[in-house]
Amino acid sequence: MFLKHTTAEVADRKALTVNPAKTCQPVGAMYASLGIHGCLPHSHGSQGCCAYHRSSLTRHYKEPVMAGTSSFTEGSSVFGGQGNLVQALNNMFTVYKPDVVAVHSTCLSETIGDDLGQIVKKAIDEGKVPEGKTVVYASTPSYIGSHVTGFANMCAGMAKQLAEVPAEDAAPLDQVNILPGWVEPSDMREIKRIMKTMGVPFVMYPDTSDVLDAPMTGHHEFYPKGGATIEEIKSSGLSKATLALGAWGSEAAAQELWKKCRVPYETLDLPIGIKATDRFLSKLSEITGTPVPESLTAERGRALDMITDMQNYLYGKRVALWGDPDQLLALSEFLADIDMKPVYIVSGTPGKKFMKKMEGILGDVVPEAKFKNGERADMFLMHQWIKEEGVDLLMGNSYGKYISRDDDIPFVRMGFPIYDRVGHSYFPTVGYMGAIRILEKMLGVIMDKQDRDAPEEKFELVM
Ligand code: SF4
Repeated sequence: MFLKHTTAEVADRKALTVNPAKTCQPVGAMYASLGIHGCLPHSHGSQGCCAYHRSSLTRHYKEPVMAGTSSFTEGSSVFGGQGNLVQALNNMFTVYKPDVVAVHSTCLSETIGDDLGQIVKKAIDEGKVPEGKTVVYASTPSYIGSHVTGFANMCAGMAKQLAEVPAEDAAPLDQVNILPGWVEPSDMREIKRIMKTMGVPFVMYPDTSDVLDAPMTGHHEFYPKGGATIEEIKSSGLSKATLALGAWGSEAAAQELWKKCRVPYETLDLPIGIKATDRFLSKLSEITGTPVPESLTAERGRALDMITDMQNYLYGKRVALWGDPDQLLALSEFLADIDMKPVYIVSGTPGKKFMKKMEGILGDVVPEAKFKNGERADMFLMHQWIKEEGVDLLMGNSYGKYISRDDDIPFVRMGFPIYDRVGHSYFPTVGYMGAIRILEKMLGVIMDKQDRDAPEEKFELVM
């Protein structure tokens, strides 16, 4: 019993967070940076921070994640890290030859008050950034926000600092910007497949496919072939529209594109589940005049067929979910649509809209649902709720495995981080094919438990 001290009585806590359902901002900033082609992320802070960010991503993606650090010492911790960062940019461009360095701050450099914009300008003025190379930066102190806001800040930095402003009377380019939000490389690949199937020209960033799911070729490539190029990101300022998928991960970048380049945007949910994918395709269709092709409609039909066939295993199942707001909102809607009951939901990522949006999704259909985000919306609270009244299924990152084992509850790993399983980098959960994947995973663990618990006379081959 790992969690034997968890009690069913929910004590009112004012200050303490136990096992938070989030991680730190720079982890997200580093993940977003890896979605630029030829980019070396750089952590402006101590070596320990950078080691943590890199190892989090390496353990989740099972890929080597390279990054620089400003390697703060006692001196830079007191007097500021300007000298370290200018030197680091010089070293990185000289030794590792990236196209781009994406710098994010950390708790320490933010507390000192280092101004990344000013330091990067100084490095450029002093000739430390070679001609044709780029530096992008984002402020990501980790005493506020979460890995999701860190991801959003770096995406907003890309839009604000790199997007080209169109000429006054220029017609927009016939392309749509897709801001995919924090999803897996497999999801980014799937979104691109959907866009190509629709036949809609697009620019997508960040794009970690072919970076964090790069194939084994026998040769180490420091900069894999994937990632959005600087030219593509620049051209996003000239596009005719932006679709921001997930308010938490993508809306800040869409707003920057609107403010700087007047590219109109729509914020949609992540296309997880049937309805959210329908909305994504309908909006694409509406802004481009392109009909949804038969092949995508057929994928939708196959997902519906699976839901119908397996309804007796899904109906009424109580589910506990934790993770990132954009994923939780879309996933809760999907589960409620297929007659499951998402009853407990926590996210450590703050944001005022979460409670209202979740109320809109679940208020009528699962009135008993409890949900909370921000401070103290942690795994301890989740476990207390489960102790009060149990659930049939857990869905979230690897940190749920302790509850799963202690209380013998089937568990589907989704979200970030997943340290103890594979598959998330390769199989998408977005789109209709993603819905089929989620269904397969849920049904697999639910039916495994049914098999395990069945007395011999009820143990069936055909279920
Ligand atoms: S929380 Fe702050 S100090 Fe800790 S690893 Fe993240 S940036 Fe560094």
